This record gives sequence, structure tokens and C-alpha cells, in this order.
Amino acid sequence: MTATSFNAAAFDESVMYTYGRFPLALERGQGCIVWDTEGLAYLDFVAGIATCTLGHSHPALVEAVTDQVTKLQHVSNLYYIPLQGELASWLTANSCADRVFFCNSGAEANEGAIKLARKYGHTKLGIEGMPMILTAQASFHGRTLATVTATGQPKYHKGFTPMVQGFDYVPYNDIEALRATVASFNSEGPQVAAILLEPLQGEGGVNPGDVEYFKQVRQLCDETGILLMMDEVQVGMGRSGKLWGHQQLGIEPDVFTLAKGLGGGFPIGAMLCNEKANVFQPGDHASTFGGNPFVCRVGMTIAKTIEQENLLENVQVRGEQLRAGLEKLVAQYPKHLAGVRGWGLINGLVLQPDGEKAAIDIVKAALDEGLLLVPAGPTVVRFVPPLVVSEREVEDAIAITTKALAKVFD
Ligand SMILES: *Cc1c(COP(=O)(O)O)cnc(C)c1O
Repeated sequence: MTATSFNAAAFDESVMYTYGRFPLALERGQGCIVWDTEGLAYLDFVAGIATCTLGHSHPALVEAVTDQVTKLQHVSNLYYIPLQGELASWLTANSCADRVFFCNSGAEANEGAIKLARKYGHTKLGIEGMPMILTAQASFHGRTLATVTATGQPKYHKGFTPMVQGFDYVPYNDIEALRATVASFNSEGPQVAAILLEPLQGEGGVNPGDVEYFKQVRQLCDETGILLMMDEVQVGMGRSGKLWGHQQLGIEPDVFTLAKGLGGGFPIGAMLCNEKANVFQPGDHASTFGGNPFVCRVGMTIAKTIEQENLLENVQVRGEQLRAGLEKLVAQYPKHLAGVRGWGLINGLVLQPDGEKAAIDIVKAALDEGLLLVPAGPTVVRFVPPLVVSEREVEDAIAITTKALAKVFD
């Protein structure tokens, strides 16, 4: 770290060492550009990991938070919070859900869904033993004890045993394996309460769900009464080019969770469900900050701006532009690159599985050239810019990626 106005050593002495960090200290942002403490500019195709929906310091968001902070930041859920009702109404009017519970993060939203599934299993399915929740291998659902257990990647479990009871894992996009697992648990009466899946696995390598698979999962859940729960924390709120990732798959879940993009950089999470899954009663679940006036004003501003600025269309068009540019690079480096996959503005540049170079090498080379990218596992480079990204910025990102690949591969 060579920054003059930022002391990385002091930072490292006091902040707990839980993240591997790039030698970059960020201070300011505008749109899709961020600046470091030395005044160097970077094109931000990480967006706080698929979080800064409107980029940085969007005028509508600045106006809303500035106004709201002078009115009311926080009151308890002991009282009606009109802005919370407004955001919940927008979410239910624009999705298959009937009810919303607000919290503060993706992991918390999934914790809520896990509790809901257990209560549903006990009260609606009559499960007497342990209600099971099935999740996918290579999934990611968060870092709290229950959500890291739900996460189907052993590397996240290492060092934290015993894990939470009541979870099992199935391969993603494999309906036969899922049917077999459900059948084995349910052979002596109902035991599976819910199946929790991402519409597209983000952390697991930008791995989109298969339409036919999800149709069959929906059917299996309808046959058995099992809840279909979808973790939309990374792809929900427009990133896929539709408002919800499950719309890409042509199905409606019973429960889905949101966070990242819903707050555009402010901490908010939400767990949504239909009437069938609406089993919580007063006292069952709560959050001090959840759905406070400040973050709900933020969430409403993100929602309205997505509508007013036609951002879903921008996501589709810019996503196509980005994938077309990346496909050309795949054609240029067939020995090193295996392909491009993704929806809308969540895309992965996939390396050949047995190559010498890893995604992190490309991410580092791009950083040196002024473009922020993030790996999704060892062999996938993830592109998740703000949903407001322009044609010119996508062009620039492709040009910088081209330079970075030349440095890494040539
Ligand atoms: C980021 C993420 C989470 C965890 O969200 P936090 O806000 O970090 O707790 C859960 N599920 C998915 C799919 C995510 O991408």
C-alpha cells in the first residue's frame, strides 16, 4: 500500500482480519466511478458486490436520504411505520408475494426464511421429528450459523462445527437427485419442509438455474406441500433484467429473500412469502432495525428509480452488450477461457478448468488498469456493475478487460 493519505498498517492493526483485501482505499464515488485516497479513478463493476443498484451518489438517493434524515430515522416496530407499509405494498404489488418481513441483510433474510420453513413444517405439514431444508451444492446463503450451514460449500463450514441440524444438500439443476433425496427423507412420512435455491448461483460461480429444472421443482413442491424458497439476495431487484430472478425461470416461489440491491448500499433485507407460507404470528420473529423509516425510504427510492429510469431495459441491453464483448474475448483466448454465462447485469467470464491462471489474476490485472471486478470462485470473473451503467462504460470495461487479459495470458 503506497497511499499517502491512508494508513493501511493502522487499519490492519485494529480491524479484525476476516477479509483478504486489495491494496486500494476507496473514498468517493459518483455513478459507476469510484476514487481512491490518492485521487485515482476506477470503473466500478463490483458495485459493492451487486449492491449499489443506482451506482454511487445517485441524485434521487441523495435527495431522499437527506430529506429523510431530517424527518425520522428510526422508530420501533411497536408502532406503525408508514414508509415500511409503502415499501411492502410496492414489493407485494410487483411480485407473487403477499407478505413481507423486513430485516437488515441477506443472511438475516435467509434466517427468517429458515425459521418460517421450520414453523411451516411443524404446523402445516405435521412434521414431528426434524423438519429438513434442502439446499444446493455450491450455493451461498450467508455467514450466520444457520445460513452458513445452508450454504452448500464445505470450505465455509471448516472450523465451525457442529453445524446446525436439519439441512441436506443436492446437486444444483439435477431434478432426479432432488426427487430421490426428498423420497428418502419422506419415506416414513413428511420430513422435508422446504427447498431453498438461488435462481442463479452468484458466489458459486454465476451459474444460472435451468428453466426445466425449476418447473419440475415447483411441481414437486406442489405435489408434496414442501415450500419452494428462493434466495434472491444477489439477483433480485432487477439485476437479472427482470425484477426477480425467478421470473427468468418462469416459476413463482412460496418464499423469497432480498437484500443487496434492495438497499442500493444501505443495509436492508426482506423475506417475502405467499399466503400459504404465512405462518408467523406475533412474537415469532423480530428485528430492532428491520424496516425502519430511513431504510424503507431508501428502498422505495430504489424501487421508484428502477421504474422511472426504465432500468430493467437498461440492464437487458447493457447485459447483452457486455456478454457480446466478453464472447469476443473468449473467441480470442479459447485455450484460457471457456465461456460467458449470466443474466442481465450479473455475468461471469469463465476460465478453462485446468488452466494455470485463476480468476484472481485477471481481477488484479484489471484493477491495475482501473477496472474493479470480483471473482466468483477460483475460475470465474464476475461483472456486476450498477444497473445505471452506460453504453460507454460497458465499452470501457470491455477495453480494460481486453488489456488485462493480454497482460495475464500473452
Ligand atoms: C450476499 C448473499 C447473501 C448474504 O448476504 P449478507 O447481506 O452478506 O448477509 C446471501 N445469499 C446470497 C445469494 C448472496 O449473494
